[in-house]
Amino acid sequence: MYTPLPSAEQLLERERLSYSVMGVKWATLLSFFLIAALCLTIYSHPNPFISLAKLSLFSIPIFVIGALGHIFFSRVSLHQYLDEFLKAYLALFNVAWLLVLVTLARSAVDSYSRTSAISGIESMVDILVLTFAIALFPDRKTMLLMVLPLMVFNVVIHLSEQPLNLVFPIVKFICFTVILYTGQQIFSRWFVQSILRNLENKKLLQQFKRLALVDGLTNLSNRRHFDDILLQEIKVTERNNRPLSLIMLDVDYFKRLNDKAGHQAGDECLSQLGQLLAQSAMRPRDLAARYGGEEFVIVLPETDIAGAAAIAANIKADIAALKLPHPDSENGEFVTVSQGVCQWRNGMSATDFTANADKMLYQAKQAGRDQFVVDEQ
Ligand code: GH3
Ligand code: MG
Ligand code: MG
Repeated sequence: MYTPLPSAEQLLERERLSYSVMGVKWATLLSFFLIAALCLTIYSHPNPFISLAKLSLFSIPIFVIGALGHIFFSRVSLHQYLDEFLKAYLALFNVAWLLVLVTLARSAVDSYSRTSAISGIESMVDILVLTFAIALFPDRKTMLLMVLPLMVFNVVIHLSEQPLNLVFPIVKFICFTVILYTGQQIFSRWFVQSILRNLENKKLLQQFKRLALVDGLTNLSNRRHFDDILLQEIKVTERNNRPLSLIMLDVDYFKRLNDKAGHQAGDECLSQLGQLLAQSAMRPRDLAARYGGEEFVIVLPETDIAGAAAIAANIKADIAALKLPHPDSENGEFVTVSQGVCQWRNGMSATDFTANADKMLYQAKQAGRDQFVVDEQ
């Protein structure tokens, strides 16, 4: 009746991966934007340190890998190896970016405006670090894997420009690492908490649904659920012209069992019958429900009257084999049931259908109980 909820670990893993996929797609699009912004800056500069053609040529891997990744991650569903694939893809994308950055740095070093070009590249790398940190924040390892090479690159180009100024790039590197590491912990805690809260809400909702549809004593569906399912199955039958049958059962002399053995014994008897009936309605769409008091119903889709009669016969035999003691029955020392069996006919409403099963049940009672009567019409 219910789809089982994933465990908290499974859900966290899935959400983390799904966010990372979303983040990677966003980072690839942003990369295109950054390259375009870079090209525009170079193009509009009166004396650029690199030619537009060279920059475009070395940016091709970013466009190719980025576009392929974007298409792939938009289509793929979350599966087992996606995490490893994502890491490998990011490593490749990082290499594509480093290729552009190294090309830029080499051209900058040889240019007249060396200092301003290198500080421009450093700012560009800082933007990239920020982009990947945001895109991959739920997965610390992958995030650091992506941003650390970029941060090391920044230290190296800064030192290549000002070899004696060791302190600034190293302090900047440490500050960035501390901010990203601790910031990631704060965001990650919020991320985990919101997912766990969501899971908790889903569990509660499932419990409420269960309480609304299941009978507490017998663990079978309750009357409300039976009414819904019967209407639904009648609609399916009307459309597909497939057979649909119904069995209505009533425990014989149940009042006397209560009176003689006590209500607790009566409850125990109903609970055991509930387990037995749940096993009798075995097919996926079959539904056994507690109709009221000591009355039960079984909805049998895709089952004609002969099939339903066979199930009623099995129930009769199984209940006899269960040997539930009955201290005051006219039918012997064990609990017995009477059953009415019928098949849905064209034009019948749900009420007509249950009334017909009830009519058959009444005939079984009249005929001496401990038997089933089949509507042969
Ligand atoms: P018949 O053979 O004609 O079916 O008679 P019966 O005694 O089984 O039927 P009747 O309708 O006279 O009595 C049903 C009894 O079932 C009355 C009610 O107190 C009892 N009952 C209904 N629900 C429960 C329940 O949840 N637990 C218990 N222990 N008894 C219940
Ligand atoms: Mg009754
Ligand atoms: Mg009864």
